[in-house]
Amino acid sequence: MDHELRRRAVGDQLGPLGADAMLVTELVNVRYLTGFTGSNGQLLVTAEGATFLTDGRYTEQARHEVAGPDRVTYRRTVRDDLPALLTGVARLGFEAQAVTVDDHAKLGAALGDGVALVPLTDVVERGRRVKDAEELDILRRAQAATDGAFDRILDVVSVGMSERHLARDLERLLLEEGGDDLAFDPIVAFGEDAAEPHHDPGHRMLEEGDVIKLDFGARVEGYHADMTRTVAFGTAPTELRKIHDVVRQAQQAGIDAVRAGATGADVDTAARDVIADAGYGDRFVHGLGHGVGLRIHEAPWLGAGQENVLPAGSVVTIEPGIYVPGIGGVRIEDMVEVTGDGCRVLGTSSRELIEL
Ligand code: ZN
Ligand code: ZN
Repeated sequence: MDHELRRRAVGDQLGPLGADAMLVTELVNVRYLTGFTGSNGQLLVTAEGATFLTDGRYTEQARHEVAGPDRVTYRRTVRDDLPALLTGVARLGFEAQAVTVDDHAKLGAALGDGVALVPLTDVVERGRRVKDAEELDILRRAQAATDGAFDRILDVVSVGMSERHLARDLERLLLEEGGDDLAFDPIVAFGEDAAEPHHDPGHRMLEEGDVIKLDFGARVEGYHADMTRTVAFGTAPTELRKIHDVVRQAQQAGIDAVRAGATGADVDTAARDVIADAGYGDRFVHGLGHGVGLRIHEAPWLGAGQENVLPAGSVVTIEPGIYVPGIGGVRIEDMVEVTGDGCRVLGTSSRELIEL
């Protein structure tokens, strides 16, 4: 990964934003800019270079992981050593979405009157929206582990097993298929439980005729996969079979609408229209999708009011759903890589209704 290039892209933005330097404290952003994977570290970026700061637990790890920037180990907090590094800095940028009111007050007190704090947003995230070749490769590996786990979980499903039991099996398979970790706790919902978009797996037992909604993914090298499939255990009720067909068509309409330059709202509308035309407009209760990378949910966002255009190289989910209380629900979700004239679906699992 070209961390140096990423840091330079941040440094170049500072002048126009009215900052002489920026203190990056959001851990995934520190990782994105340095490769550091520990649980405490900050990065001070200027137009000329960068300094990485951490505590004594991570001095040795940073020596292996963080190449390029000067490295400082502090005894208590980053505030102790920061003032000495700010020679010539009158305006210090900070990540407005990540710094608490309390941290802001303490930082201001430590820096004194000579340094003004400048709130900044979307400086590092702007770069994270577009994945480079190496990030795309890692996301494909995370998706491959997820496809592999889906393929194998279908052989495990049996009548009388609980949602929680199936969730545990799915977690094991995600790791066996190559995941370093889980991208998030899997959602497993049987029958009427599938009417909840984000159902927490419980003790509901699987019965003949249930749909099974599975939303899950593997994490590889810090990058997340995110996929949803809804399958039928036996013959699903007629309405749910119809709903699956509508959701599948809506997802295809969304995939067909993705290309660099389209807005998140455009793509959402393309899918939402299919569902509204089928009479389920008020049952599609969330946005169409989200960017995915070092975070499971990140920019760009696909939904009403999202007027930012999708850049080529971003990876987003397309995940329409229809949820009918008392009956159940269907969601189908895939990650796609945005290209100049369309998109590439990362996964290989079938999107047709599978009947076990
Ligand atoms: Zn998902
Ligand atoms: Zn998702």
